[in-house]
Parts: sequence; C-alpha cells; structure tokens
Amino acid sequence: MRRYLIAGNWKMHKTIKETEEFFDRFLELIKEKSLEDRDIMIAPPFTALYKAYEKVKGSKIFLGAQNACWAEKGAFTGEISPIMLKELGITFVIVGHSERRHIFGEKDELINKRVKGIFDSGLTPILCVGELLEEREAGKTFEVVGRQLEKGLEGLSGVSGANLVVAYEPVWAIGTGKTATPSQAQEVHQFIREKLGELFGKEVAEEIRILYGGSVKPDNANSILKEPDVDGVLVGGASLDPEKFFKIYTA
Ligand code: PEP
Repeated sequence: MRRYLIAGNWKMHKTIKETEEFFDRFLELIKEKSLEDRDIMIAPPFTALYKAYEKVKGSKIFLGAQNACWAEKGAFTGEISPIMLKELGITFVIVGHSERRHIFGEKDELINKRVKGIFDSGLTPILCVGELLEEREAGKTFEVVGRQLEKGLEGLSGVSGANLVVAYEPVWAIGTGKTATPSQAQEVHQFIREKLGELFGKEVAEEIRILYGGSVKPDNANSILKEPDVDGVLVGGASLDPEKFFKIYTA
C-alpha cells in the first residue's frame, strides 16, 4: 500500500526569518492533526535548510532539497553535494524540475547524472517529468514523458518504493493556475506506472509513488488525490502559506 506524499517546493522563496515563521505556524497546525496515511515533505531553498532542519527535528516532517550534484565533492562551483544535504537531515531531492530543464537548460543526460548521484548516496530522488503545452497539443505527451523517464532513470539498480519518487508536472500547469483535470492526470500517471514496470518490474512499479504537480491548491487537491495512480502532490505556490499547505495535507 503506497502512502501519500504531500510535498512542498518553495523554489527561490523565503529568507531564514520567513522560514522560521512558516514552521512556527505549520508545526502548530500539524500538532493538532497529523495523518497516519501520508508523509509530508518541504523543500526550502538551500540557505534556509539549516533553519528548517532545526525546526522540524523531532517532528514527522521530511525535508527535501531542490537539486543536487552527482559528486560528493570537488570543483563544481555553485553546486551542492548529496553528502552536504545528508548532514542537514535531507531525505528527498527534487531533480529535473521543469524550471531546471527550461530556464537553466538541464537535459536528460545531466538529470540522469544527478539522479544516479543522489540515489547512490542514499537520498531519494523525486524525478520530475512533464510535457510543454505545444507537446501536449501535438499529441506527444506520452512520447516526451516516456523519454524523460527512460533517460532520467537509466542505470539505476535496486530501485524500490522507498528510494524513488516520480512527479508528473505538466509544464503548462506549473504556476499558471491551470490544473490538469483528475482524468488527464490519471491517464499520464497510469502510463508512468506502466513505464516504471518496464524499467524495474511490475511489483516495484506498484510501490513507487507518483506525485502530481501543477497549480495544486486546497480546493483541487482532493479530487486529484482520489485518482488511483496519484500518490501525492508536489506543490509550489500554495506550499508557501502554512494554512494553505496544511489544507492540502489534510485534503
Ligand atoms: C512546482 O513548482 O513544482 C509547482 C507545481 O508549482 P505550482 O504549484 O506553483 O504550480
């Protein structure tokens, strides 16, 4: 039985002080109602990770990072190693987010190097995949998502539901207020699970959590989470507000 994962991606938002304020309120909320069938993860910016680590210690909240290098150390200016992240209590690392792909030009080959480095260091990659609007309109959604999965996950062995998460984030739905309908999400999630079955075997594919991301809000989270192959959500904008994110967590 897959546990839901409700994940927040803060992107380049929140100072250390704002991070402290968020957790002061969010921890109060979660103390009142903590749910047994779901995990929760928040990925603050690197500069706020230490504060977040201090704040969530002793709670059930997992911390995530928004990217990581494949190497443990070395001449990689501007990068952060998985070892450094482990020191800060990080469990999950978001990789291949559409903003990394489309603003910073990260390609499947580079993303695969990151995924492998993160995976081999014992952290859990959350590999993001998703098509552009023009790719959807050209009927290429499955082709694009299939390629991102094959290339992004190439060379991994020993995969299980505990060490890999996939997030389907249609690029046209990220930060735009447009959400995929529950059935559009389910259709692609089902395809992703089939693809994971081809790559790692059907049993493993049944264990892997597949999250939906793209303008998830308190009022649409429930209908998306009801779909059989949707095992959680990856939330950008709405995860910045403790009340909204808590509503999504309890959706
Ligand atoms: C995201 O950044 O992964 C995301 C889905 O953003 P938003 O929820 O703001 O669309």
